[in-house]
Amino acid sequence: MALSDRLSLVNPSEIRKLFDLAQGVEGLISLGIGEPDFDTPEHIREYAKEALDRGMTHYSPNAGIMMLREALAWKLKKQNGIDADPKTQIMVTVGANQALLMGLATFLRDGEEVLISGPMFVSYAPAVILAGGKPVEVPTYEENEFRLSVEDLEKHVTEKTRALIINTPNNPTGAVLTRNDLEEIGNFAVEHDLIVFSDEVYEHFVYDGARNHSIASLDGMFERTITINGFSKTFAMTGWRLGFVAAPEWIIERMTRFQMYNATCPVTFAQYAAAKALKDERSWKAVEEMRREYERRRNLVWKRLNEMGLPTLKPKGAFYIFPRIRDTGLSSKEFSELMLLQAKVAVVPGSAFGSAGEGYIRISYATAYEKLEEAMDRMEKVLREKKLV
Ligand code: PMP
Repeated sequence: MALSDRLSLVNPSEIRKLFDLAQGVEGLISLGIGEPDFDTPEHIREYAKEALDRGMTHYSPNAGIMMLREALAWKLKKQNGIDADPKTQIMVTVGANQALLMGLATFLRDGEEVLISGPMFVSYAPAVILAGGKPVEVPTYEENEFRLSVEDLEKHVTEKTRALIINTPNNPTGAVLTRNDLEEIGNFAVEHDLIVFSDEVYEHFVYDGARNHSIASLDGMFERTITINGFSKTFAMTGWRLGFVAAPEWIIERMTRFQMYNATCPVTFAQYAAAKALKDERSWKAVEEMRREYERRRNLVWKRLNEMGLPTLKPKGAFYIFPRIRDTGLSSKEFSELMLLQAKVAVVPGSAFGSAGEGYIRISYATAYEKLEEAMDRMEKVLREKKLV
């Protein structure tokens, strides 16, 4: 099937549609957006200016500048327990998003199936379709804190299954997989000879003492894992479009080939700033400050949602919370539209993240504390007025 035919199969995300509707709503508080409300820390912005002044205005190697790949190798070893060679096993990409499609395109053959833990980040299924594969949602359940289990996976694996996408901490549920979960998932991947995509863009935003573990650090897993990560969330750099991948050499070689004929390379001066940022203590201090603030907001929103009658798990990671709205009798789309038009609060229907998301909504708490308080007041008022709780 031609790429143009595949493109016809992927539709603009539900989130985009909701935001079109939100355009005309005055005084709206948006809890819909999936990006940090913080600006990039000042010293990182200064590094980019320094790079420009030093003449880093040219193309870089397709896989990224060596200085950044070396800093990433250091980071991956220190923080993730992953041993990756910066020359052959690490690549810089135009955001984590771009890495997905390029990674899938390195090995997927027409019609091969990719298991995806659902509810899922909106790009996964379209990326699989564009790469010629077939996305297969593996639902996770509130009763298991939305953590993916091998029993869930077993129900969906076939002889056509080639890969598996996991995302911890998770967008949209905030679930964090434990080391034990990852060991079991790893064994499952070995047993069925699957390639694992591990999207870890929210790795630093974990709460209540939870820790993020990287599946590629487990025995025998590096050779079958594509670890995807980026700078968007960690250092609040969404607009810089910078991500990275650690994977076996054959994958990186093929992704680099894809990059050569695609973006050519990520932005050169942004790469320099990122390399400097990784090695600067101030960056990690800023990450910890953001993490603490997210945790404070999560505590507020979690408490308020439960108090207003929407049963909500306390998520251990990311900056999303996933209240159950099923008992109101509304679909997640109806609920979100009601909130948008009556409470002037934008939330995302769970159905935007796959069928496992129906019955829930996603709230992003990457928004100022006072705005979150106001949004909770407004939501509660509408729910009580309409006698939905
Ligand atoms: N993965 C997940 C789970 C995300 O939530 C996002 C951004 N919302 C991305 C990847 C994409 O990140 P980037 O800006 O690095 O492309």
